Amino acid sequence: MVSISCLKIKGGAYYINSPTNIGLYVFRNKNCLVIDTPLNSSAAKKIDEEISSCAFHPRYVFNTHHHLDHCGSNSYFRNKYPGCEFFSSKGEKVFIENNFLYSSILWGGIPCSQIEWSSKEERIDAILEEGINKINDEKFEIIDLGGHSKALTGIITPEKVFYISDSIFSEEKLQKYKIPYIYDINKFLISIDKILSCDAEFFLPGHSCKVYDKQEIEKLATKNVSAVEFFKDQIYTFLKNAFTKEEIVENIIILNELSVDFKQYMLISTTVAGYLEMFISEKLISYSVQDGKLYFYRE
Ligand SMILES: [Zn+2]
Repeated sequence: MVSISCLKIKGGAYYINSPTNIGLYVFRNKNCLVIDTPLNSSAAKKIDEEISSCAFHPRYVFNTHHHLDHCGSNSYFRNKYPGCEFFSSKGEKVFIENNFLYSSILWGGIPCSQIEWSSKEERIDAILEEGINKINDEKFEIIDLGGHSKALTGIITPEKVFYISDSIFSEEKLQKYKIPYIYDINKFLISIDKILSCDAEFFLPGHSCKVYDKQEIEKLATKNVSAVEFFKDQIYTFLKNAFTKEEIVENIIILNELSVDFKQYMLISTTVAGYLEMFISEKLISYSVQDGKLYFYRE
């Protein structure tokens, strides 16, 4: 495994390169804002050791969204740093504090043990609204980047470093998963436009090997939009004929030569539900139940 280290982006903005990039904003007194917490306590311990080795002290935590690789070790930081304050958007607070909802969304019913979720009691202390928010007397801009999750939120530091989390997928992740997990397709595309039009200099995705500058993020955004367009076209082509959601998932997996486990199947299935919802709301497709199957087809 690649060793983790705390890397400076600009001014007080740092990050720790790990399976999930953990953002850090260090204030003058060495207190810091931790942007996302890793999957579990053992990953958190490593991140914490790195933060301590730099003589920084976690005082605030901001969770960009409720997926466990972004908030799974909040309790570690709460226990280790009494008085640490936890922030998120209003929409994500509900999911972070009721993490079973993530498994419920993917599975479509009672949370299922094949899709991990946290039963730990979590608490978000304050909601950060979209716009300028003061943390420790510094101004941060909070931007709603929903799409990958309902209310995923990015944060821009005073030096214009934009922590964009999973609102954009890196080249490595696009190549690995081919069909990126998206909950709300239209909102995902709107969020990409917001990233491109914002006043920021550097951009850090949640899972990437590097920090992107403006030109690089524009190229990456184009690749993300192309991936969405590709699957939009592919699914719409299937719907020349009547297909069930399961048949669409089956065809996506086979045509794109994906090898998937239970959870990855559910991630694809939920993403397909997002595309179907978009087609239905745009009145491009219709549906009917026949012989016990729910079919979708073009109008
Ligand atoms: Zn995520």
